[in-house]
Amino acid sequence: MSDEGRRAAATDGPVGPTGAHDPAGSAAGPVSILTCASCGTKNRIRPSARGVPICASCKAPLPWLVHATDATFDLEADASVAVLVDLWAPWCGPCRFVAPILEDLSREFAGRLKVVKVDVDENPALAQRFEAFSIPTLVVLRNGRVVDRIVGAMPKPQLAVRLTPHLLRAP
Ligand SMILES: [Zn+2]
Repeated sequence: MSDEGRRAAATDGPVGPTGAHDPAGSAAGPVSILTCASCGTKNRIRPSARGVPICASCKAPLPWLVHATDATFDLEADASVAVLVDLWAPWCGPCRFVAPILEDLSREFAGRLKVVKVDVDENPALAQRFEAFSIPTLVVLRNGRVVDRIVGAMPKPQLAVRLTPHLLRAP
């Protein structure tokens, strides 16, 4: 290494707010920034298999929409609420139609739904696992099991109706 001369200066500096360095997502999972629909506060949230994320300022349930990769998906999909996996790609027109609908639904169903977006071009293992031969493919998971599957774009009212049975809290 050629940073001998900088070592003294570097050791003085702060190591970050928590002192922890988390380059590729630890066991606790990657941080997502979730914006509160009620007060606008940006919350830093890691995946959790229990409960739902709550705004640090106003305590409202947060719209839970995250991006996952082949590496982080299993952590993100392990949730207490229904998980809607959006298998999409940047070049796909119908996917761009669906994207704002999913953002709306994550707000309207805050506390009952988690949306996990997966770019199929960058995450071929997930595309294969969910057989996303045509996109958008939307897969609904409950406790890790596929409970519904929607191929192609769907208008928001129909999608909301389709999702509603899966949004009930687990008994
Ligand atoms: Zn808030």
